[in-house]
Amino acid sequence: MEKHPDELLSAYLDHELTYDEQLAVEDHLSTCIHCQTLLEELSSIKNNYLARIRHWRSQMISRKSSC
Ligand SMILES: [Zn+2]
Repeated sequence: MEKHPDELLSAYLDHELTYDEQLAVEDHLSTCIHCQTLLEELSSIKNNYLARIRHWRSQMISRKSSC
């Protein structure tokens, strides 16, 4: 792969790639610091986002059950 698969990285995190695409991304990641860094950033953004959603949901649930 010649150029950085930036747009595939978030799909890679979501496991939305085809097998071939996934292999290509992993192959590229093994040699590209730029994309490794980008993947880490995307992954932490996503984790923060999911943590916030989960926190928000648990608040909604506890609020409902206290009624
Ligand atoms: Zn790259």
